[in-house]
Amino acid sequence: MKTWIFLFSFFLLCTACKQEPVKYDSPLERLMAGNKRFMAGHPVHPDETLQRIRDLKKGQDPFAIIVGCADSRVPPELIFDQGLGDIFSIRTAGNIIGDYELGSIEYAVEHLGCKFIIVLGHENCGAIKAFIENPDTTNQHDHIKNIIEYISEENEEHSLAEADKHQVDKAVKANITHGVHLLQNAQPVLKPLIDKKEVTVVGAYYDLDNGEVIITDK
Ligand SMILES: [Zn+2]
Repeated sequence: MKTWIFLFSFFLLCTACKQEPVKYDSPLERLMAGNKRFMAGHPVHPDETLQRIRDLKKGQDPFAIIVGCADSRVPPELIFDQGLGDIFSIRTAGNIIGDYELGSIEYAVEHLGCKFIIVLGHENCGAIKAFIENPDTTNQHDHIKNIIEYISEENEEHSLAEADKHQVDKAVKANITHGVHLLQNAQPVLKPLIDKKEVTVVGAYYDLDNGEVIITDK
């Protein structure tokens, strides 16, 4: 009898091991499912093997472009529980988007066939804080002023009141919206594709308290 129970358990275990990979309706759904696993403390760390990188040697086919902050607390592959070859990642302090970043996004869209972009801001962003604490860069000589000036432009776009400048979160979210608008209007590559719904851009905010990614702009 015990032998039968053992064999039956073994059969069930083998069946579980052979489960088909989950199919997702969209890149966003796939990313959000990964974020849920990360938040729950049960990441599966997909696509991290040496065999995976060997498989990718001939070329990559990432399913999402993530424009995020360079902050060490916001690594896209970890917070979305993805692996090698899954995400085309562009990271700058404050997730700002200049010519080089835009060129990288266009490369991933045109040459890698990537159709989904997330502009990802996060709670307590140091670059945004730097702008709020010192918006006047007149006497600043380091290159951080370039980042602050970029965020200043976005601040004008969203007409944040003086009082709001003390609310880092509002500025972080305005910066996300600014990034989304910038990509939606980027000529000559992105705007036509986005207008035809061949490429999608969304904005998202990463919460440092619980690791949740919340979609803020669609
Ligand atoms: Zn940041």
